[in-house]
Amino acid sequence: MAFRFANVSGRAALVDRDGRWYDLDKLSGGAVPADPMAAIAEAAALHRLDEQLASSEPDGQLAEASLGAPIPRPRNAFGVGLNYRPHAEEANMELPERPLVFGKFSSCIVGPTDDVELRSETADWEVELVVAIGTAGRDIPADSAWDHVLGLTIGQDISDRRLQFAAKPPHFDLGKSRDTYGPMGPVLVSTDSFADPTDLAISCQINGEPKQADRTTSLIFSVAELIEYLSGIVTLDVGDVIFTGTPAGVGAASQTYLAPGDVITSTIEGIGTMSNTCV
Ligand code: ZN
Repeated sequence: MAFRFANVSGRAALVDRDGRWYDLDKLSGGAVPADPMAAIAEAAALHRLDEQLASSEPDGQLAEASLGAPIPRPRNAFGVGLNYRPHAEEANMELPERPLVFGKFSSCIVGPTDDVELRSETADWEVELVVAIGTAGRDIPADSAWDHVLGLTIGQDISDRRLQFAAKPPHFDLGKSRDTYGPMGPVLVSTDSFADPTDLAISCQINGEPKQADRTTSLIFSVAELIEYLSGIVTLDVGDVIFTGTPAGVGAASQTYLAPGDVITSTIEGIGTMSNTCV
């Protein structure tokens, strides 16, 4: 069965269709570890345990829970730049012939309700579909790439534009890795939950005002192509994540940036909504 996975107060949990969460260690009688990074390695158990939710006692409501990132400590977190054509155009940059990949240092990852701590006046929003690897692999062909995906979640690839372009050539990695610049969540949704995981509406609002809206079918390099490309270079491990790129409508295009008090609302069809406040 398809599952929705969450990190509640640092412990792995499953979430039912009514937004109630169940502690996985308790639900599984200790078979699935409480640590979310260890729990995601038990994909078969997560699928099986989802069927038991209807006959189990929930531990709380997700809306009232203290949520961490569903994948709080990925070994590797990849980012992909300029992966939606209109965004490459608004950035006045050439369309990449190969995926433009940078590391998003995993120390920047925070939960779906955490604050984004602004450290400059050029911080920008970037809603992104985040892919979590569930089965490790190397040299994975595109046509079997989805078999290696555990699930999908929402990410914000918050980018300090001045820092990103402070060096020549630009160091995307540092500009996108300040502490708290990688919110993720609220839940990781198993791939089999989606009628078509390659075609999802994705959007971002700032203080309720629509800024970004597209569909993931607009990706220049698809999820499968990204996995083939990356796994030809780096062995992908369980819990590695890929921020797959952002649609048009970032602040840099109009020179408007995030300010303290701004609320970033990120939504992806079939996953949910994540809301982070800038401080
Ligand atoms: Zn990005």
